[in-house]
Amino acid sequence: MTLGVAILGSTGSIGLSALRVLERHPREFMPVALTANANASGLAAQVARWKPSFVGLVGGAHSTEAEWHTGPECLVQAATRDDVAIVLNAVVGAAGLPATLAALTAGKRVALANKETLVVAGELVTTTAKQHGGSIVPVDSEHSAILQCLAGRQPHEVRRLVLTASGGPFRTWSDERLATATVHDALQHPTWQMGSKITIDSATLANKALEVIEAHYLFGVPYDRIDVVVHPQSIIHSFVEFVDGSVLAQLGMPSMELPILFALTYPDRIADSGVPLFDPVALGSLTFESVRRESFPMLDLGIQAGRRGGAAPAVYNAANESAVALFLAGVLPFGEIATSVRAALAEFGALPSSSLDALWHADAMARQFVDLHFSPSSARS
Ligand code: MG
Repeated sequence: MTLGVAILGSTGSIGLSALRVLERHPREFMPVALTANANASGLAAQVARWKPSFVGLVGGAHSTEAEWHTGPECLVQAATRDDVAIVLNAVVGAAGLPATLAALTAGKRVALANKETLVVAGELVTTTAKQHGGSIVPVDSEHSAILQCLAGRQPHEVRRLVLTASGGPFRTWSDERLATATVHDALQHPTWQMGSKITIDSATLANKALEVIEAHYLFGVPYDRIDVVVHPQSIIHSFVEFVDGSVLAQLGMPSMELPILFALTYPDRIADSGVPLFDPVALGSLTFESVRRESFPMLDLGIQAGRRGGAAPAVYNAANESAVALFLAGVLPFGEIATSVRAALAEFGALPSSSLDALWHADAMARQFVDLHFSPSSARS
């Protein structure tokens, strides 16, 4: 049977990788719904190739393509269609949350690349999945690794999760140099080819904080049993330590096509010829270092927000999204990303979180705060 797949964010880095995976497996999977944020020409080329039954362009209010759906609601429409069995959510940021919730409510499998979904509303998302029979399978390479290592094990057998981090482009930079790192510097990721938002998050280590929170909700492991280690080669995608002291790791070349394929076929595996084969001798040595936590404060700020719970993770995420946008626009220094997020957390971290509306309110307040206080036109200067 061929399963219908909706790809939300089909013109982004994960979307393009997903289409390469589907191209190799036409008997198993068919992209039936494609949505993009703003890349109309990229989407048009995909539509010509794949002829999906649903096309959405989020930022396409003035699209000339009459049959295309437009506006943010096209994500939810794509995610809840009857011909869709699996929703690959590769939207950037909290904007991906409504589609995740709608897909889970409709009982779909969500192949989740939009980690912000679990950061903003982890409790709500996991409860929604349980109530409606939907399921979440991670696409994030670290979480895919953990899922694979946990296969068949019981929660009480797990002592600790250890997420690996490449360390990003600034792993060896001095603190002085870090403070004034440019956009160009930050976009030079040593091992992974990704979109600009997640690449900046990898440079600040905010990405790893988001992943710790994601792991907490996906696997139900408390924060004091989730650790992070720097592994510059990005070959080991994470470790699971069991109560007897045994440790399992999952290894693979740094290609998102492998975790995408596994999220589609889970718990099964199918043969694939597209991913470079593992060659331990060619890889040489695998090394590990501790995280420079003082130099990369976004990691602990995020984990603290996760531990605090409530609206704090949503505020951390929203402030970070705004700060990264300002950094990418060339108006916020690299070192000020953490400053602005810390300030937003102090201001709004304790806001109520009892409903989705409350979380969106906290999200909006944090974005507004960072835009107001940290953009060049602000009264601060
Ligand atoms: Mg990751």
